Amino acid sequence: MDIEHLKQLQEVDIEITTVSQEKFALEETLKKDEDGYRSAEQAIAEFNKNYEQLDADKRAKEAEIQQTNEMIKRWDTRLKEAKSGREYQAFMREINGAKKDIGEIENAVLKIMEDMEKIDKDRDQQKQQLDEIGKRLQQMSAQSKEKISFLAKQIEGFETERGRIAKNVSSGLLGMYEQIRKQRNVAIVAVKKSVCQGCYMNIPPQLYNEVMMNSRIIHCPHCQRILYYDAEDHGVVERKPKRNKKSRIDVEL
Ligand SMILES: [Zn+2]
Repeated sequence: MDIEHLKQLQEVDIEITTVSQEKFALEETLKKDEDGYRSAEQAIAEFNKNYEQLDADKRAKEAEIQQTNEMIKRWDTRLKEAKSGREYQAFMREINGAKKDIGEIENAVLKIMEDMEKIDKDRDQQKQQLDEIGKRLQQMSAQSKEKISFLAKQIEGFETERGRIAKNVSSGLLGMYEQIRKQRNVAIVAVKKSVCQGCYMNIPPQLYNEVMMNSRIIHCPHCQRILYYDAEDHGVVERKPKRNKKSRIDVEL
């Protein structure tokens, strides 16, 4: 009976979707952690680069201070040999100006050192974060990967089962089922007390009678889903025993 096969097909498809979603969520979490690890690494590299730049700036300023000090020393020698008060004044002005420059450069060096200290602190914090993510990844990734491959195996099992069921459905009907499923997610639904369980609209009595007879494929006139009559809901005993879900697919870890 086509309807029965379609119901089985949908059951498997729902399982495939559910397990695929679980697998996808795990993969996403894993990916997020891996991305987090990578960006923490990048942030540390960026800190290192900035730190090195500041260190180079600092060394350049220190060299500048040294050069200026040497200049002061030379002027100081000439100052002592000054032949006039005017000459003395001129060297003195140079020396004072240079000392003022040194003061400014020293302030700049202090500022650079403060910046370096801040980077150092931030970098430590980032390293700690990297460590934490790294540890979590180490613990989680093996576990997650194992679970992901288990779920993949489960999906594979369902796919095989799906292939087996699909063989019993004509290609035209299968195509129709896929089409509705793509649009409505659920392609085949029960009718309970004249109500389509997909869109919850009423089915005309004549069509409902036909669904009850179960002799041809009938679509809901409102949502186009394929309808079946739910005998259980109406107190009618089902002829066929329910399939045992657990024994249907055996997937082992
Ligand atoms: Zn409907």
